[in-house]
Amino acid sequence: MLDGEAGEGRLIAAGSDVLEPDAVHEVLVVGAGLIGSSIAWLLSKAGCRVVLIDAGSFGGEASAAGAGMLAPGGEYREPSPAARFAIESLAMYPTFVRQLEKESGLSIDYRKCGAIELAYERERWRELRKRADVQRRFGISAQWLCLSSLSAVAPGLNLEGLRGALYYPDDACVAPGDLLRALRAVCEREGVKILENSPVESIDAERGLVMVRVREQRISGRNLVLAAGAWCSQIPVSRSGVTTHIPESFPVKGHLVGYQLLPGSLRPILRNGHHYVVQRKSGFTIAGSSEEQCGFDRSVNPERISEIRNAAGSIYSPISMLEPTREWTGFRPGSERQGPTLGRVSGTNVWLAYGHYRNGILLTPATAHLVSRQILSASYKSQEAGSLVLAASIESGREMGTNERA
Ligand SMILES: Cc1cc2nc3c(=O)[nH]c(=O)nc-3n(C[C@H](O)[C@H](O)[C@H](O)COP(=O)(O)OP(=O)(O)OC[C@H]3O[C@@H](n4cnc5c(N)ncnc54)[C@H](O)[C@@H]3O)c2cc1C
Repeated sequence: MLDGEAGEGRLIAAGSDVLEPDAVHEVLVVGAGLIGSSIAWLLSKAGCRVVLIDAGSFGGEASAAGAGMLAPGGEYREPSPAARFAIESLAMYPTFVRQLEKESGLSIDYRKCGAIELAYERERWRELRKRADVQRRFGISAQWLCLSSLSAVAPGLNLEGLRGALYYPDDACVAPGDLLRALRAVCEREGVKILENSPVESIDAERGLVMVRVREQRISGRNLVLAAGAWCSQIPVSRSGVTTHIPESFPVKGHLVGYQLLPGSLRPILRNGHHYVVQRKSGFTIAGSSEEQCGFDRSVNPERISEIRNAAGSIYSPISMLEPTREWTGFRPGSERQGPTLGRVSGTNVWLAYGHYRNGILLTPATAHLVSRQILSASYKSQEAGSLVLAASIESGREMGTNERA
């Protein structure tokens, strides 16, 4: 018998809850990363009975791999709906973390640590100053830093050849592993049924009902949220038996390198182009990263590691003398769309929540609130059985254009 499977054709969730084959659940969430589990949490708090299904273990993919920078300052250069969404999500973080800590009883390493963006060439410094002028106008605080103050703000920072530095005071960082532990605890507390090692093989939506196949067995729900990160478009979705196209998702592999330093030895995030250094409260210090489109190849490439070590060591001297204690990779969920795919597949109760690429940790609170609100506002309270039944007939939220193939 496999994990997640009980005898006599029944599936068994963590905590030994058996999923009865004929039961119709209120919401099925496919993918227990930060996105899926935070949506499951908010929906279950609102009274929905939720089943959270993952192909592997809870939070075992991109969400656990990520560096945990919450840094619109380094990501958004122009005003756009995506930038607004990211700024909103960053602003939601303190409350999101406080609430998770309170309800789970677990502590989360979250800090508004600020970020320093470095320029070692004149041209790059000119670009950064222009960028800061634009960012300030759409709500990202950015300040020029006096170079003489830098050694006090970030001891160990390489000042040689430095032309200028911008400070983003609102950028923050979080340990995604802490978030995942807390999310699992609150999901369990709210009665979410967690089904691990259970890859969803297909999704079929009929009017008012969505069915998934998991190892030749069927689970039914009134609504389904597809939050399987880089894997989403590998899962066939059909509407009344007809294949429905959803925006393509794909993996963008990233390498990261970890070092053990003294706790508190580096406060702000340091960034130079695609390279960065960020420290956890424990002193564990992460250097990143690479961006590679090479499918789902999990291997650690020594050349990429060496590039990251050199680049990170050239901006932050303490790690140039150290051997890493950990090297790892993860798959950012890329998408054919610019920005995350959030919305409903038209004519169905299938909701999409993926494609957060390199900002999924930052975008978790705003995504969880938006998607759960959309699902709840498409719902009504059933007097029968005293439970929340989600109605197919009430349209709400954004509908995704679909492209059907016979
Ligand atoms: C190297 C690296 C550095 C990063 N740094 C940052 C950062 O500093 N800040 C930031 O904001 N973001 C960062 N990210 C991005 C961030 O980690 C992701 O955007 C985010 O974790 C995506 O969360 P998710 O829940 O959508 O996906 P995932 O965490 O990948 O979760 C998807 C889940 O779906 C499951 N699944 C897949 N197929 C199926 C199936 N058929 N059936 C059921 N379940 C399935 C998987 O097992 C997985 O658990 C980084 C990512 C990487 C790789």
